[in-house]
Amino acid sequence: MKVRAAVLRSPGRELEVVDAELRQPGPGEARVRVDATGICRSDLHVAATGESIEFPAVLGHEGAGVIEEVGPECALSAGDHVVLSWSPRCGRCPRCVEGRPNLCQQLTTSADTGGLALDGEALNAYMGLGCLVEQVVLPEERVVPMPADLSAEALCLIGCGVATGYGAAVRTADIGVGNSVAVFGCGAVGLSAIQGARISGAVQVIGVDPDPTRRELALHLGATATVDPGSAAGVTGEILDRTRGGVDVAIEATGSPDVMARLLDCVRAGGKAVVVGLPAADATVTISPFHLLYEKTFTGSIYGSVDPHIEFPLMGELYRQGRLDLDRLTGERHRLDNVNDAFAELREQRSTRPIVLPNHR
Ligand SMILES: [Zn+2]
Ligand SMILES: [Zn+2]
Repeated sequence: MKVRAAVLRSPGRELEVVDAELRQPGPGEARVRVDATGICRSDLHVAATGESIEFPAVLGHEGAGVIEEVGPECALSAGDHVVLSWSPRCGRCPRCVEGRPNLCQQLTTSADTGGLALDGEALNAYMGLGCLVEQVVLPEERVVPMPADLSAEALCLIGCGVATGYGAAVRTADIGVGNSVAVFGCGAVGLSAIQGARISGAVQVIGVDPDPTRRELALHLGATATVDPGSAAGVTGEILDRTRGGVDVAIEATGSPDVMARLLDCVRAGGKAVVVGLPAADATVTISPFHLLYEKTFTGSIYGSVDPHIEFPLMGELYRQGRLDLDRLTGERHRLDNVNDAFAELREQRSTRPIVLPNHR
């Protein structure tokens, strides 16, 4: 069948909406109608740089929709409401076997898993999903059933940004009741980390961002204070002041090596710093080994250390209960034809998450 897909032919170009060929679902696969796709900063990053992706490519890796058809031996059913997961979750590699599918050794940023072809040539699916398309065919491991009564326009965020930020706070950093937390960067990922900190019972949650609108949003979503990194006292001074010697947990959600390098300065002895943002491929970070002598942990988090099949439905439930706010993270709605406007909205930071509705004409 023919479906409309937003294709990037080479880095730095605009996305082009084309009629692509979608194959039938094979064994263990599902054909998903994509109702909503959030644009994530890593879509912007690969579109601009071409790093870690092959062309032509379908971008988009934060999608939600409904299963239209399943292939033979597929455990899912037509009509299931789903969020797409970029963990291949092969189930056989040592990391999957030990229950950490976010570290699956089959993880690749560029794969021909979406079942799409253009002029006889397979289209690469960014993060194995490529969901800026009306419909996509995916292995069932990448398709997570969700409650049917929740909006795809909100749920899609769980597929990348929210899982990444919320999981970094709740799972990777394992924030506990009474902890103090600083979150650097108040985009969709940082704001999800702030919510994860609040849900975990942190008493002090400091959001750091130069943008006053984002700092305001951080306060609505669970930050107890915010800091402008351009302030006279400097961000480290402000945080040390407010926490009497540093936070228990600092989470970085900016992708900036400078922020990563300073992260441990605001963490107390024995505390944790978690790097979440996507840096440039050649980025390096220098830290003082004295931080390590003082038993600070310097670590990272991919996909929030979550198992999507377990945690996506839990995040959906937290959303239903009003404890995890997804609606305030979303920006403008765009038709697929206007996908470049959605990219511009994020690039110019007019919202934290522009949403594309691929099946709206
Ligand atoms: Zn992403
Ligand atoms: Zn695996």
